[in-house]
Amino acid sequence: MRSLRLFLYLLSIFIVPLSINAAKVNHVKWEEGLDFESYLECYGVPETLIDTLDRDDVELISEIVDNRKYYEMIATNGTLLQSLIPIGEEMQLHLFMTPKGYKLEIIPIAYKNDTYIAQLSVKNSPNLDIIKTVKNRRLASEFSRVLKDSVNFRGIQRGDKLAIVYDQKMRLGQPIGMPDIKVAMIETAGEEHYVFKHTDQRYYDEDGKELIKRYMRKPLNHIRITSSFTHRRYHPIQKRWKAHLGTDFGAKRGTPILAVAKGKIIFSGWKGGYGKVIKIKHDDGYVSLYAHQSRIKVKKGAFVSKGDIIGFVGSTGRSTGPHLHFGIYKNGRAINPMRVVKFKTEGLWGSGKRAFINRKDIYKRIITQIIDDNRPSYIWNSIEERSVSPKMKSYYRSLGW
Ligand SMILES: [Zn+2]
Repeated sequence: MRSLRLFLYLLSIFIVPLSINAAKVNHVKWEEGLDFESYLECYGVPETLIDTLDRDDVELISEIVDNRKYYEMIATNGTLLQSLIPIGEEMQLHLFMTPKGYKLEIIPIAYKNDTYIAQLSVKNSPNLDIIKTVKNRRLASEFSRVLKDSVNFRGIQRGDKLAIVYDQKMRLGQPIGMPDIKVAMIETAGEEHYVFKHTDQRYYDEDGKELIKRYMRKPLNHIRITSSFTHRRYHPIQKRWKAHLGTDFGAKRGTPILAVAKGKIIFSGWKGGYGKVIKIKHDDGYVSLYAHQSRIKVKKGAFVSKGDIIGFVGSTGRSTGPHLHFGIYKNGRAINPMRVVKFKTEGLWGSGKRAFINRKDIYKRIITQIIDDNRPSYIWNSIEERSVSPKMKSYYRSLGW
């Protein structure tokens, strides 16, 4: 069944220039350390093809992940007909042969995004139970991450209850990317502990107090965002989907770049569209990336402390002017840097706080309903029409789900 779906999927995306029988489809891992330029060279495709892409798209070529699987279709004589190489979670490089030569484009990956609900009574530990009943490892680790600063996980006992509402992207029956937890609750020792994701993408407790305390610092002393992070966004003028897997900060050439947290330098050098770039490995599976530098100050293997100068702002690689392209990766996947870097010190106040309280009350009613329903875990969207009260539907709509 799965292979049939895969086959249909391949048929739907490959515009086959020859008959299927004459070609071979490979689903293989991207070789470690291989850059896209060398990949093109392997198949005798001119490197200048990259210049046909938009500038911001060229930057994405540096985002091909080692050991990630991609598709290629090869003719019996060894000619590359097409390849589909994933970039980030939602986009892919599409390289294909036409009568006029090779073409290169960046196109969206087809996926489904649903809102899910999970609810369970703890038998072993929240982590094990989420993996066992919901069958989503990343949900288990995200649940621990968002709650770890407000709940003592060691004190959790058999019979304690937890509930989560989250979004998950799915492709060919498999979750892709991280689940996006909207609200999570654990009831332990007779007390309910909540986390709520606000519109600023950060997590707060019931009183509007920010929950994740171990933030990274800013990579520049003065921050001016010129382009923000997106897995994909529709460009209304170019009429197509684009991705930007980091945050761009405008700054003068030579402005010092600072390590956002302590860690080890795992890359220091030139990397395609990113130009001179440094990557730092931090605790808990985080990696930070600083691209387009004019000058790099630290070598691979060195250890740095939070706030150390690692290099200087420049415009190397594919860049229109001096700026810092700053990326954060969690377990190898690009995430929005705003989620983990401390850009401002103040919490919620004024109208922002009132909006939060409003959202929070709606979220809490949803959680109460979930616990009352006592259904183990399900897709909210799919049951919406059948069994959800009109009142609950309007709650969801008001939250923008
Ligand atoms: Zn950028």
